[in-house]
Amino acid sequence: MKRFSLILLSFFVVIGLEAKDFTVVIDAGHGGKDPGAISANKKLYEKDVTLKVALMVGESIKKNHPEVKVLYTRKTDVFVGLNDRARMANKANADLFISIHTNAAKSRTAKGAETYTLGIEEERTERNLEIAKRENGVIFLEDNHEKTYANFNPNSPESYIIFEYMQSEFVKESIHMAQYVQEHLASDANRHDRGVRQAGFLVLNATSMPSILVELGYISNAEDAKYLGSESGQKRMSRCISEAFDKYYTDLMKLNASQPAVESTRSTTIPASKEQPEAIQGDEQQPVFKVQFLSSSKRLAAEDKAFKGLKPVEFYYDKGLYKYTYGSSTNYNDIIRIKKKVNEKFKDAFIVAFVQGERIDTQQAIALFKQNNP
Ligand SMILES: [Zn+2]
Repeated sequence: MKRFSLILLSFFVVIGLEAKDFTVVIDAGHGGKDPGAISANKKLYEKDVTLKVALMVGESIKKNHPEVKVLYTRKTDVFVGLNDRARMANKANADLFISIHTNAAKSRTAKGAETYTLGIEEERTERNLEIAKRENGVIFLEDNHEKTYANFNPNSPESYIIFEYMQSEFVKESIHMAQYVQEHLASDANRHDRGVRQAGFLVLNATSMPSILVELGYISNAEDAKYLGSESGQKRMSRCISEAFDKYYTDLMKLNASQPAVESTRSTTIPASKEQPEAIQGDEQQPVFKVQFLSSSKRLAAEDKAFKGLKPVEFYYDKGLYKYTYGSSTNYNDIIRIKKKVNEKFKDAFIVAFVQGERIDTQQAIALFKQNNP
């Protein structure tokens, strides 16, 4: 048993040194005790449509891009909390989050597909807020929701404004992906095109990466429901999403290739003051832990307001985004303390690990730390 885990660990360390692959998280909306929206004839549940489409999307992404890591928030009919979905994606340091849903309305004539990104205040309409409320309302099904979502009230517009502000850096990338999804659903799947929209969905707001939420169609509309429930419809819609992914991913890889060599995934300290501490590099046996708290598509200056006074701040460049970190230690326990401090300003901040400036898997780094410090 022991020898086995040691072999496994050294295997992880070896692959951990490779540049991190692109990770996409596919999120099948609802599940288990939360059926989501239900068709007028009560036969079709949102949770079943989203799961089938999500699994198919993942399969075709894996087939077309074997180098891409595909993760699912659920692969079976189980209940998963909204925060847990986002947490999974953040923990995996995912590069893209795709949440799949079906819509519903009181009016049985409402139909068509729409894709959401994180809200921008001026774009928000009453109607978008209504939909966000419905999708977020699921938190009341979770145990301890008062504690988990301390200040989040799905019925208060103010809650959305706060969340929207926090993650606005990802809006551009999210819209990019959302537009591709919407284009394919309208042309290839012949869905009535309701466009790309913004709203404050909790599942999107809690993720630290470009994220979209696609409403494939209106399960409350007879015509849409028939398509949503059919195998051919599900296949077609999943192909639309995976083809949108192809385009988004290809764009990003091109963008990466055109970046100057210095903007690699290596971690760099933003020059600010003269007494910059010597950067801890770490080695294969001793990874360096840091706290990642922010990402942006453009490079920010050391004194940028977005850092909320944190300094010195370091960054690494990863698949089209500058990712900012604070603190640095080869001692995992130290970094947990630092993270708690950072969380006061950035509640979604999380721990990342590096070996000689290259990002490695955090779980593997923690395992290595624990092995070295029994
Ligand atoms: Zn839903």
